[in-house]
Amino acid sequence: MSVRTLQDCLDLDVGIWGHCTRPNCGNSVRLDIHNLIERYGADYSYIGDDRLRNALRCNRCGHKGGSITISQMYSASAGR
Ligand SMILES: [Zn+2]
Repeated sequence: MSVRTLQDCLDLDVGIWGHCTRPNCGNSVRLDIHNLIERYGADYSYIGDDRLRNALRCNRCGHKGGSITISQMYSASAGR
């Protein structure tokens, strides 16, 4: 099973995380997938596309641009 689109992330309960690439910051934020789908569409694939990375803005240091990782964080949604 591979996760390629935003819809996949929803279906599989996979989180998308944005990471600040500024040295000495390293802030990580879990992105709101529903927000991303509104903006990019459910079929949007973040693989090989820079829009999502470039649109990231760190809420700690204000750095623009970052990296994206996905992670299955079942514990994070356990309290839903
Ligand atoms: Zn930062």
